[in-house]
Amino acid sequence: MSRFGVNDHIGGFDDKEVSDCEPFVPGNSPPACEYTTQRALGRSRVNRIDAAVQVAIARTREQVARLHEDLVRYELVVWTSGSVSARVAGADLFVIKPSDVFYDDLTPQNLVLCDFAGNVIENTPGWDRSPSHDAAAHAHVYRTLPSVGGIVHTHSTFATAWATRGEAIPCVLTTMARSFGGEIPIGPLATLDGDEVGRGIVDALGSHRSRVVLMQNHGVFAVGSTPTDAVRAAVIAEDSARTVHAAHSLGAVLALPQAVIDGLWEAGQTNRTRLGAGESQSAP
Ligand SMILES: [Zn+2]
Repeated sequence: MSRFGVNDHIGGFDDKEVSDCEPFVPGNSPPACEYTTQRALGRSRVNRIDAAVQVAIARTREQVARLHEDLVRYELVVWTSGSVSARVAGADLFVIKPSDVFYDDLTPQNLVLCDFAGNVIENTPGWDRSPSHDAAAHAHVYRTLPSVGGIVHTHSTFATAWATRGEAIPCVLTTMARSFGGEIPIGPLATLDGDEVGRGIVDALGSHRSRVVLMQNHGVFAVGSTPTDAVRAAVIAEDSARTVHAAHSLGAVLALPQAVIDGLWEAGQTNRTRLGAGESQSAP
């Protein structure tokens, strides 16, 4: 059974089960067994995954596990909250943190593989665990925005404080202008049931340059062309939230002229394109 209550196999699928295949070990040649994703009657079913996709899944698992360390390093998370996910190249699949697992215990093999309906893919590593509580939101974003390669969700303190006030973070820092091209917007108050959060994220991002949105009374969702880019955006968003909060405590804050914001945004875009969105680790 999938994590989301999708029951057992439906007729009409290839007989070959994922569990029949040899486990894939990163660095080794992909096993001969091939997989494809099939859908029927509104239920997701995976019987075979193409060998090339298996390689992509293994790489994605390694990357997502590694990037979770950054959430801890930059103090964006506590206990088991927060998540990183990444789209699997060449497939309608993504890898995400399991729910209620401590960061020290995360490994590539206990991350959860989901399809774009948010269903866990049976008989793959980590499938005995539930995905992060916000997996449905991630699924909605991947389904709706093909350019998104990675998503980060945190309750990082300062950014979430702005979210709790229902207040966008104004673009009063050159770093924000370069990274976000304007304010970091507020998304609606939404529950994690169904697509509500996902729709709120997509709607907010659709009307802003920012790739970070503060979901009201909840926390931060950052997207990126790569998962590294999404983590970077989440880190800069929290740093910006902290600095702008400190500035407000000192008194009036100077606005950035729109022309300056536009110029810095363009320069930042060029730089991101030149360096590769996922590879530049330098702060703007
Ligand atoms: Zn949350």
